[in-house]
Amino acid sequence: MCTVLNNEQWRMVVEAKGIATGILKSAAENITTAGTSFDTLIPKYLSIRPTPERKSAYAGFFLKTAATIDALKRDNFNYDSIGLDEKKEPYLASVYAEDMTHKMTLTKFYFQSLKMTGYDSRWGTLIHEATHWKDVKRTEDWDYGKSSQKLCTAKSLNNADNWERMLENYASSL
Ligand SMILES: [Zn+2]
Repeated sequence: MCTVLNNEQWRMVVEAKGIATGILKSAAENITTAGTSFDTLIPKYLSIRPTPERKSAYAGFFLKTAATIDALKRDNFNYDSIGLDEKKEPYLASVYAEDMTHKMTLTKFYFQSLKMTGYDSRWGTLIHEATHWKDVKRTEDWDYGKSSQKLCTAKSLNNADNWERMLENYASSL
């Protein structure tokens, strides 16, 4: 069921890794500049006021996530050709938060259904998964998609999809 990535899958992951790290580095630089679009993105996606201290902390988090994704090699990834979790629900990708070897499983749905732009992008999904690792941010999956914007502030800040969607929105404005 789980195998290594084939050459075509690895090519797609390399492309997604490159976009993810580029967006994260751009966001880290942009978020601390005057008139940044994050002044509206932070309240929208994290339900919190964008103070200078928070923006500086998020810039550090973006750079940490970029470095973590940049360091992922081909053998960090597994391919799940079935793509169903223990409840038989389809899933895109998964990691184990405690896994300090940073293994990431990508399923057939990751490669078949995701695009490179918009919400639920291939690069955004890599960011989502990387934030789960405990040495990055140890985010949870309290909710997914648009409904994740209705979470309370504490959960928003610790919900992987809120960060993914905020960065996907940021990227769409570049
Ligand atoms: Zn997740």
